[in-house]
Amino acid sequence: MKRVGVIGGGQLAWMMAPAAQKLDMSLVVQTPQETDPAVAVANRAVLAAVADASATLQLAKQCDVITFENEFVDLAALAQIEAQGVCFYPKIRSLAPLLDKLDQRQFLQEIGVPTPRFTPIAEELKPQQLSQFGWPTVLKTRRHGYDGQGTFILQATDTLPSTAAATHWLLEEYVPFQCELAVIAARSAAGEIVIYPVVETQQEDQVCRRVFATGFEAATDQAEEIATRILQELDYVGVMGIEFFLTRQGLLVNELAPRTHNSGHYTLDACVTSQFEQQLRAVSGLPLGSPELTCAGAVMVNLLGYEVARRDYSEKRLALSQIPNASIYWYGKTARPGRKLGHVTVRLEPDQLDEAEQIADLIEQIWYPPLGSDDEDIYLEA
Ligand code: ADP
Repeated sequence: MKRVGVIGGGQLAWMMAPAAQKLDMSLVVQTPQETDPAVAVANRAVLAAVADASATLQLAKQCDVITFENEFVDLAALAQIEAQGVCFYPKIRSLAPLLDKLDQRQFLQEIGVPTPRFTPIAEELKPQQLSQFGWPTVLKTRRHGYDGQGTFILQATDTLPSTAAATHWLLEEYVPFQCELAVIAARSAAGEIVIYPVVETQQEDQVCRRVFATGFEAATDQAEEIATRILQELDYVGVMGIEFFLTRQGLLVNELAPRTHNSGHYTLDACVTSQFEQQLRAVSGLPLGSPELTCAGAVMVNLLGYEVARRDYSEKRLALSQIPNASIYWYGKTARPGRKLGHVTVRLEPDQLDEAEQIADLIEQIWYPPLGSDDEDIYLEA
């Protein structure tokens, strides 16, 4: 039985567990809290911070290969562990240009992949540094940003974000995109590559709310070409999420996620091989599975927290389960505003492709409290 270690134990590792069982693999996670979603479904857990490399050494003793569901790791320390013979997929040198948003942008520029224009801000933030790409402009912390934390879309009149003075920043042009797209791509150690369908992602306040796998053929060739180039240049092994801005001039890459990704959750219900199974296949030397859709399309809606609460929302989940062809995933986390607590995927029939937005609206109507209700007040205040 192959033993796969996963650094991180959130919902991404949680969704890997059924695939591990299917492939007769055991899963050992490294994650800080006993209550983290994947602990209950993994075969074993090393309870430690994801950046704790000495814990990763313990993890390595229990596994044949280690992969990632969280990239906030101490890469220099992991490189030393790798040098001792521990197998990481993706390899540490494949991850090296990806963990810092500035390094990512520079890597993409070097290999000729289009990105928004950008510049680092090395010293303390000063208002006069921010105008070089016009307004609005986008300021990002270089490391540890996720779900829009650390991304600021600023107007000339806005005050500067009050993050720690030591933060290193990336400034970039604001892209007036037509829409945001994403693909999941995977590469095996043998160099085999598979690419899933292009999906549209919709963000609010820089957080992903909805994903539509309803056919974006016009962007497919360019997305596939970019994904292939990135995976090959990095000699990457594993699953990667690639986020794009669609502009009139074509695609720009916004971000690379070196792991399974929220834009690929729909693959659990709507593709021959889910992104989670694909990750396990890629890192353990199995042939990759087909990324094809098994239905006409799919819509995925994140269930974001809108209050601080320890509730299981069973009534809302029951109501959501009444939607035809819906699958509900509940991560079992404590609710906090903006936190991803679960998601719903609806498989679409061919005649439903035009109704995907309405289905997403319905899910959000069931999930979120109506505007003006007490719950909504909590959401707005938080
Ligand atoms: P995170 O790493 O937290 O996901 P991102 O860099 O992906 O942050 O940004 C989150 C969202 O912010 C994007 O999906 C997009 O909606 C918006 N955004 C980020 N960068 C830009 C940009 N340069 N121009 C316009 N919108 C942007």
